[in-house]
Amino acid sequence: MVSIEVLGIAQDAGVPHIGCQCPNCETAREDPERVRYSSAIRLEDDGHYLFDATPDIRFQLSETPDSVFLTHAHLGHLPGLLFLGRESANADEIPVYCTEGLADVIRENVPLRLLVDEGNIDLRLIDDGSGVSLGEASVTAVPVEHRETVPTGTLAYRIDGPDRSLLYMSDIDKLTTDALDLIRNVDIALVDGTFWSRDELDRVETVPHPTVKSSLDVLAAVDTEILFTHLNHTNPLLDPESDARKHLEEAGFSVAKEGKTFDL
Ligand SMILES: [Zn+2]
Ligand SMILES: [Zn+2]
Ligand SMILES: [Zn+2]
Repeated sequence: MVSIEVLGIAQDAGVPHIGCQCPNCETAREDPERVRYSSAIRLEDDGHYLFDATPDIRFQLSETPDSVFLTHAHLGHLPGLLFLGRESANADEIPVYCTEGLADVIRENVPLRLLVDEGNIDLRLIDDGSGVSLGEASVTAVPVEHRETVPTGTLAYRIDGPDRSLLYMSDIDKLTTDALDLIRNVDIALVDGTFWSRDELDRVETVPHPTVKSSLDVLAAVDTEILFTHLNHTNPLLDPESDARKHLEEAGFSVAKEGKTFDL
């Protein structure tokens, strides 16, 4: 049996967000049900495999993963790796798949370097399109466009089970033709839903992501089950009662939910 579990649906910094008193953040501080962890998923096959090592990893995993698949070097996607080290899980040569550039960064910089030096992780490259076969599932990395500030590259992952396929694409700058093709060619897609609309942040121009609202028309023509993840703390979709959420659901889409599983 191959299945995917959603472990987090927030943008890198989680909900609540440090130093923020917006309605979503204040609500999350008062109601633990509204706390959201940084975006990540777990694949269960012949073992447990983590996609994105978030700062919330200790709440997301009750057992040490058998491998980790990294997407890129931003706050919500890499620092959880440190919990595999001596101060925490003290893991033994766990395979960690990433781009060549990110592997260099991990190998060369303390504190991440200690994971390699102490034998906690075993870095493996996955951006050459070769893919990884697990028990019944296979994992393929696909480079995506995501900010020049990540010179080490960004990956989305396609996971194929015996019956269905799932795309995990947590961070993209825009819905390029290539990104749309990736979505179109799977059964289920977890897609970057950072912002509902452009008026969420003053500095939104410097934080590129396609807005969910502006993507709905294009995505409506696609036959894939699409769920949005990686939601910024400002995103009204975080509130199940919001007009934005109603609008989204009426259009046939949904917000990914922590704990939700998909059989592949
Ligand atoms: Zn991110
Ligand atoms: Zn906030
Ligand atoms: Zn990012």
